[in-house]
Amino acid sequence: MQNRGGDTPRISPSEPALRIIMRRLREIMAEPADGQSRLDKIVRQIAGLMVAEVCSIYLKRQDGSLELFATEGLNPAAVHNTFMKRGEGLVGRCAELAVPINEPDAQNHPAFSYRPETGEEIYHSLLAVPVLRGGEVLGVLTVQNKMQKEYSDEDVEVLQTTAMVLAEHLVSGAVAGVNAGTEFSRTASHVVRGQPLSEGLALGHVVLHDSRVVVTELEAKDPEEENRRLETAVEELKSHIDEMLELGEVATTGEHREVLEAYRMLAHDRGWLRRMKDAIKRGMTAEAAVERVQNDTRARMLRHADAYWHERHKDLDELSDRLLRILSGHPRPRAGKVQLPHDTILIARTMGPAVLLDYDRSRLRGLVIEDSSGQSHVAIVAKALGIAAVGQARGVIERVDDGNPIIVDAETGEVHIRPTSDVISAYGDKARFRARRQRKYRALRNKPAVTKDGQKIELHINAGLMMDLPHLAESGADGIGLFRTELQFMVSETLPRLDQQVQMYRAIVAEAGQKPVVFRTLDVGGDKALPYLRQPEEENPALGWRAIRLSLDRPGLLRTQVRALLRAAAGLELRLLLPMVSAVGEVDMARALIDREIDLLRRRGSTDPTRVLLGAMIEVPSLLYELDVLLPRVDFASVGSNDLLQYLYAADRNNTRVAGRYDSLSAAAMRALAAIVDAAKRHGKPLSLCGEMAGKPLEAMALLGLGYRSISMAPASVGPVKSMILSLDVGALQRWLSGVLPAGEGSLRAQLKRFAEEHGVEI
Ligand code: PEP
Ligand code: MG
Repeated sequence: MQNRGGDTPRISPSEPALRIIMRRLREIMAEPADGQSRLDKIVRQIAGLMVAEVCSIYLKRQDGSLELFATEGLNPAAVHNTFMKRGEGLVGRCAELAVPINEPDAQNHPAFSYRPETGEEIYHSLLAVPVLRGGEVLGVLTVQNKMQKEYSDEDVEVLQTTAMVLAEHLVSGAVAGVNAGTEFSRTASHVVRGQPLSEGLALGHVVLHDSRVVVTELEAKDPEEENRRLETAVEELKSHIDEMLELGEVATTGEHREVLEAYRMLAHDRGWLRRMKDAIKRGMTAEAAVERVQNDTRARMLRHADAYWHERHKDLDELSDRLLRILSGHPRPRAGKVQLPHDTILIARTMGPAVLLDYDRSRLRGLVIEDSSGQSHVAIVAKALGIAAVGQARGVIERVDDGNPIIVDAETGEVHIRPTSDVISAYGDKARFRARRQRKYRALRNKPAVTKDGQKIELHINAGLMMDLPHLAESGADGIGLFRTELQFMVSETLPRLDQQVQMYRAIVAEAGQKPVVFRTLDVGGDKALPYLRQPEEENPALGWRAIRLSLDRPGLLRTQVRALLRAAAGLELRLLLPMVSAVGEVDMARALIDREIDLLRRRGSTDPTRVLLGAMIEVPSLLYELDVLLPRVDFASVGSNDLLQYLYAADRNNTRVAGRYDSLSAAAMRALAAIVDAAKRHGKPLSLCGEMAGKPLEAMALLGLGYRSISMAPASVGPVKSMILSLDVGALQRWLSGVLPAGEGSLRAQLKRFAEEHGVEI
């Protein structure tokens, strides 16, 4: 077999080969050279040491394609001229699946993609391994031979480990100059697209919530010593987790007991330890072994789209991180103790709502989270704090370092990492424009929300945390249309006791003064888990044991809450709203419980509220067909359009894959919403709508067109919605809509937009 390795000695792939590769890579990185010549030298060395005729490096570009960056053996002219589309060919497949591909007869493989410019037709066998960092694929490293052969397990191992070392050098910038435009570039500008969680725009500097432990020493000098270090660290990790569980620290750290139990199981997993020990046997330090196993496992787990694996990889990340901290002697910094820059943009893989509250609000401008699960809770806190937040920003952590400049655009969901001066200046303009708009909205604060044709619209805010309360006065809203009481429970480390609840509700009532507050009883379950409340695992939590169902089955929680609310509203009017009602009987049962509590209060001689108004949320479609039975039995109703639409369209509101499949302004949704208004009018019952739709000017306009006269929204939306109302002739809209709606099909968004434009409505 021909050796194209130049001056490199030919040896068979074995443990020493790996050592030699590592040493040669280190030497190459130490020599003064530009990035491209380093990559060229690397491929030459690997080809030589692995007795391969070809060795190539493909790097992933920001658009997901792979570019040939260096090769030994293929046509040199193909370098930077050969691109593979995402998933194309065996190399693309290796990147997509993040697994090694070992093909003795690559050219006859159905997935093979022939590239004449490379001259690769003479090579039959191919071994391709992903270049992984933190489970993210940065590129692909390949070797090829003319002879048809299956590469040995050792070859695969050597190439995978080489790829890991290569990844480290790539992200550390050691091949600077070649990485602009690639996935891993930590110097170039980069845009990551996610989902807006909390509206706003923020320019600032990166603070990594859990700054990484960077593994620099990869090669073990004394494998036995590394083995001992790993064993000791794993023992320490296990006892630390046991301690947290036994000392009941679960509550004080805000961590879920079940999560800790999952960590404990993983920490005791012999397979995990064995894989790390195997990596040490192959010449790695304990730290490198932890990272190597984390990378491989994470990449494998991420291929599973389901939530179970998603959670497991989070557990593995967390545990690997803890283990690395033990090994490197870097304890995790506490959020409250970190010195933050004045324009902090926090970057986290995952984050619970309570943790966000640990940071100094005055220095926080924005938040970017990689993960989606649990985002809704942290999003609610981010909204309450008034910071721009983007979620599902996959890969952001791999691309940033502490202190990097960054822009969070939570209008579009874009995160600009290390933006160019053009982008900064464009965003500067955008920020100034927003500030002008905000000033305009503030000026509307004391102006009543009355349409051009004289219809008064009630605008309320949604709230749920004490920190939301100042927004009531600041926004000039008419009241709190939805107080999500569960949020206080979610950010609390233990179940709030009766007296704590009384205090909390009293403070809310006092802050609201004369303005009404609608307290929604606990809406827990589904994605709103309480850290201290054991809930059964459910196949479909959104359709499961939650909200009023849980409250009626376990009445202790609801009883305590109602008792606290009755006491807090002594001598005042109290409005209670029941979530997730799906049948009228549930309202009757809740009313009976409330009446018993009122009775008890009176018998004890305590002052009760002057009036208790009971309302139902209309957010389960079954109620649409029971409105004439329901409405006479309640004092008011509030439409939860977030849930109503998710159930109506059978599309999970937290699943971005299906979120775009329906439009809240489609004719079907609007006809359902119109039927509720008609029924409320028939029964003379006050009606409001408190879902996210109410806070978007165009959607809010449509709601007014359907006859809604009271809506409740996030505080930041009051200004834009009021501005729309002041420019709207709602009578004209109603007349137009009554002509369009009965025969309408699909989304009416475009037509509504046109109406707004033609009639000068500010949306
Ligand atoms: C809704 O479902 O529209 C609603 C307001 O309630 P939540 O978002 O808290 O489920
Ligand atoms: Mg709801």
